[in-house]
Parts: sequence; structure tokens; C-alpha cells
Amino acid sequence: MQTRRLSVPGKPRPLGQSCKDDAPNPQELAELWGVCTSIRDRFIVGVLQWAGLRVGELCHLRRTWVNFEENTIEVPRRQSCTCWECVNRRNGEWKLETKQGIRTIRINPLLRTIMLEFFEAHDCLNLTRQRVWQIIKELCRRARIGPGFS
Ligand SMILES: [Zn+2]
Repeated sequence: MQTRRLSVPGKPRPLGQSCKDDAPNPQELAELWGVCTSIRDRFIVGVLQWAGLRVGELCHLRRTWVNFEENTIEVPRRQSCTCWECVNRRNGEWKLETKQGIRTIRINPLLRTIMLEFFEAHDCLNLTRQRVWQIIKELCRRARIGPGFS
């Protein structure tokens, strides 16, 4: 099998933010899902693909953002955070870059199932952005999807 590269000019974008032309096709997405072996991987790919969160948001997504009755995710303006980046660079507070980032996102049944399973065991992903990028790249490599995907 050959590695296909998707042509994405410039800076890589998180999964959920790909523009239509660059978005992975269904076959590529199926391959990507096929290499997700843990609930953590499915959580990462599912949130990026279906909720369209940025990676920085994904890293800060907590159980409290999710309303399983309404099937929504509410991205807050700010929250206190003890991750390395927030403690050392943001005075212990994570903030959205713009007010436009405050939003409510609808979650589909598949993502809901993944989130329920994930949040049963974890409150938060608890990984750095760099680590999440590594995981995405590794999944794309295993799925033989070009790095442009993310
Ligand atoms: Zn943080």
C-alpha cells in the first residue's frame, strides 16, 4: 500500500477544521477509525472530526463541558487549569483566544457514545497539545493518510 498525501498548503489544521477540499474522504476516515485501538484515540479523533474542536480546546475539554441530556458541548470562555502550559504561561488559567470561540456544539450519537465511555474513566484528556499532535500523526501514519490530514 502506498501512503497518500492530501494536499494541504501551509500550516496543518486540526481534523475538524479542514476546509471541504482538504477534508479526508470517507475511505480515509474509515482507515483512520480502523487504527484507533483505545478509547483515548477514538475520543481524540471523534472530538476533532465531529465536534470540530481545536487541539488546544480538546486538551482542555472536561466532563463539565458536556451536557449528555441536551447532547451538546459548551466551550467556556475560561477555566482554571493546572496543565504545564497554563501554569507556566497563562497564570493557571486557560482562556479562549477570541470570544467567538464560546459556542455550543451539538454531539452526534456516535460521539456521545465515545464521550460517555471516555468520561467514565477520565475527567479530561490530560495530555499536552504536542502529545495530541504526536498521537494524531501516529494514527495518520498507521492509517497511511498523509500528514496533511491533520
Ligand atoms: Zn491548561
